[in-house]
Formats: sequence, structure tokens, C-alpha cells
Amino acid sequence: MTDLARPQIAVVFTGGTISMRVDAQAGGAVPALSGEEILALVPGLEKIAAVRVVEFARVAGPHMTPVRMLELARVVEAQLADDTVQGVVITHGTDTLEETAYLLDLVLDSEKPVVLVGSMRNGSELGFDGPANLRSAVRVAVEPAARGLGVLVVMNDQLLAAAEATKTHTEAVDTFQSRDFGALGIVDKDRIIVTRRRVAREHVPAVVALEERVEIVKLSAGSDGRMIRYAIAGELRGLVIEGLGRGNAPVTAIAEVEAAVRSGIPVVLTSRCPRGRVLDTYAYAGAGKQFRKLGAILGGMTPSHKARIKLMVMLGAGAGVEKIREAFEGAG
Ligand code: ASP
Repeated sequence: MTDLARPQIAVVFTGGTISMRVDAQAGGAVPALSGEEILALVPGLEKIAAVRVVEFARVAGPHMTPVRMLELARVVEAQLADDTVQGVVITHGTDTLEETAYLLDLVLDSEKPVVLVGSMRNGSELGFDGPANLRSAVRVAVEPAARGLGVLVVMNDQLLAAAEATKTHTEAVDTFQSRDFGALGIVDKDRIIVTRRRVAREHVPAVVALEERVEIVKLSAGSDGRMIRYAIAGELRGLVIEGLGRGNAPVTAIAEVEAAVRSGIPVVLTSRCPRGRVLDTYAYAGAGKQFRKLGAILGGMTPSHKARIKLMVMLGAGAGVEKIREAFEGAG
């Protein structure tokens, strides 16, 4: 029965370290806790919201795939469509949390808060950060100021935009950061302080399926481009090439990057730098300008793994190369 006195939040459980405990036989942390068991570790949560438990999966982050992420989007959409639900929280493995958050941000169209949360320490460790993170995530989900912010990542008491959030450290509890722009706000005990919002949000309508045949090839000094050759020899429908600096290729891989662009599939150039934009600043051989002239798409500020998600979503929605170009190059 719906409790009308308290806001109702759907918490969708997918797994991740927040659901893990050390299994002595396996010799490490594995998913173990149900949604109810995780909630039981968060004292006082019932004072913030009435929680509806939705068990989606109990898997590690690396077991999430883009197809499952889209299935998750449908589950979240159904919760958001329920007038009695004020917001949705999703527990998730941190390894792929940013891809899921970004995919949801692209395909969902709701003003209600949607919050991704995980933990860096598991339930068998001292200082398990899962319960506190989950409490903060639910608190954000009931917060009127969090409406219309797009999909959020709430970890370590920071509110981050899905498009900007990235896991920066393999172990630290402050791993999630928006390295270029900082947090949208913070959780300060029972108060949510929102200090900025993203000016433009992206939405891709009518996504019923993803194009899965999209890959990433990373280049470094002296890469001979064979990985691009292998990639385009297959059934690829889109390619992300992670280049150097502003989006440049090593001299040894110029011919292969050109061949990929000429093959007719959308080729998005990203950078191995963790911050800043890809742009056609340079005009020497192998620089972004040359590939842009041939038809390559400059990835702007989108890191490679999110560029792949965006390509999968846009191709799945039937977008052509020019529409995809506009979505990347116009996005900043
Ligand atoms: N490897 C774990 C996962 O993604 C890490 C975590 O959840 O923090 O499931």
C-alpha cells in the first residue's frame, strides 16, 4: 500500500560492490546481498522516503552490457511513469556505472531525479561506504532541487552529472569526479545544495534498440593501425578512435584512420587525455583537421567509452552520419 505521507522512491538493485561480501571459498568479493538486505543496513532511511524495491540483477559492473543497460532504462521508465513515484535510485557496480548513467541520461525524458549509486568498499570491509552512499542517493531523489538535473551520480556526497562523471581511481571512495567542471552540488547531512545545472542536456528520442557493432580502438605513439584494420574488416557499424592530445593520430596509423573514415561508417575521434576537448586545431599530417576534412567526427569532450554508448544509441535510433556529427560536435 502506498504511504501518502512520505515521498515514494523506487530503488532498482543491479549488483556491484554495494551488494558484495567476501566469499571465503572464492577468495574475494562477490555479489551476495539482496535489495532488502542492503536497505536493512541503512538506518533511518524510512524517515526520508518510502522505498519500493525493484530487483533487476545482482551482477558485477563488468557483467552489465549496453543491451542490459537499455533493458534497465525500460524498467526505470516504467517507475518514472508511476505518479506515486517521486524519483528512482539505481545501485550499480562502479566499473561501468558511468556508462549506464550516460545511456540512461540519453534515453530517458523525465524531470524526476534518477540517481546512480554504488560503493567502493564491500560489505565485509571496514568503512563500507554503501549504506551512507545509498542514504545520500535516496535523499537526493526526494529533493525538489534535483528535479530536471538529468541523470545523476551520487557518490561520496557529491552530485555529478551523468555526462561528466567518471571513475578516476580504482579504489578511493572519492573516485567519481567531473574533472572539467566539478560537482553540480553536494549532500550535507540532510541538506542538498545544488550550485549549478548543465545548460544543455542531450536526449535521443525513440530508442528501441542499440547498434551493438560499435568498437573503440586506442592509439599511442607508434601504433601501426593494425587494430583499426582488424576492426573495419569485420561487421562494424561505428568506430571510436581514441587518439592523442586534441585528437591526433600517430604518423604510423594515418592510412588506417583514413581507411576507417572512407569505409563509410561513422568514425568518432576522441582523446586519451582525461580532460579537455577534441578539436581540429592542428593541420599537420595525422592531425584532427585532416581526418575531419575526410569526414571523421570530432568527439568534443566525450570520452571514448561514452562516445561508444552515444554511437550505439544514435545508430540504434536510426541516425545518419550528419546527425551524429551534430550531436558530438555541437555538444561542446
Ligand atoms: N568491480 C566492482 C563492480 O563494478 C566495483 C564496484 O562496484 O565498485 O561491480
